[in-house]
Amino acid sequence: MSQHDIHVRKMRVDINKHNVAQYYLDTKESSIHMNALIGSHLRLNFSGQINCIHCGRKTKKTFNQGACFPCFRSLAQCDTCIIKPEKCHYDQGTCREPDWGEANCLQDHFVYLANTGAVKVGITRHVSNGVSSRWIDQGATQALPIFRVPSRKVSGLVEIEIAKFISDKTNWRTMLKGGYPDVDLKEFWAQLKEKVSASIDAITNEIGLQSLTPLDLPALDINYPVVHFPEKIKSLNFDKTPDIEGKLLGIKGQYLLFDEDRVLNLRNASGYNITMSSSAV
Ligand SMILES: [Zn+2]
Repeated sequence: MSQHDIHVRKMRVDINKHNVAQYYLDTKESSIHMNALIGSHLRLNFSGQINCIHCGRKTKKTFNQGACFPCFRSLAQCDTCIIKPEKCHYDQGTCREPDWGEANCLQDHFVYLANTGAVKVGITRHVSNGVSSRWIDQGATQALPIFRVPSRKVSGLVEIEIAKFISDKTNWRTMLKGGYPDVDLKEFWAQLKEKVSASIDAITNEIGLQSLTPLDLPALDINYPVVHFPEKIKSLNFDKTPDIEGKLLGIKGQYLLFDEDRVLNLRNASGYNITMSSSAV
């Protein structure tokens, strides 16, 4: 049996050469390759203490996945414009942290389509080697970047136009159940593009010609390490169940899938201090 003390943050993700999502959970000293624990008996025991993932202070409750209230109110990354990028207010001189905004928001972003049970539109800052960690965080089984744009705000403006036709949200229950069909994303986009091209041209006209780069990249397939998908999903959290125990049957998005159709969104537990023990069954 192995045991680790963990101050929970979302799992770091990656993809291997067989396009299988790889998950890593950082402990205080090292990093656990969570894929290797699938099939094991896992016990996650919440100590009762929560520390802000930004400043470390003790907090009774978290906001925005791991922040204490003061950080939630003061950090640019916790501002509403992160969720609604079209509300970026950097130009008005009111960014909470202009340096952070310059380094993170006034940088190239990508607009993408992803299949998370239905085709959705989203935005992401990084696509490296054709992969964005965001797609894996969302549990997307397919993804296709469609535009490169010069800022988070512009990505938000484009997303709004596309979201008039398809969702910009993931239905996490559908995503976790798996078994939904693949979609030809290139063909899907070719058809959708005709509907949105006029409004996207209008954005281009307003902000300058070089602002939107249409991309012609291959769609990416992403597989997840899941031996059994849940059917009637029961959602767990440490506030109601401080001691979570069971056989780990898979990982998808930022969810751990346990036996008896139980799922735990680990990202929502950011900031919680837990002890994780695992043993082979
Ligand atoms: Zn804090």
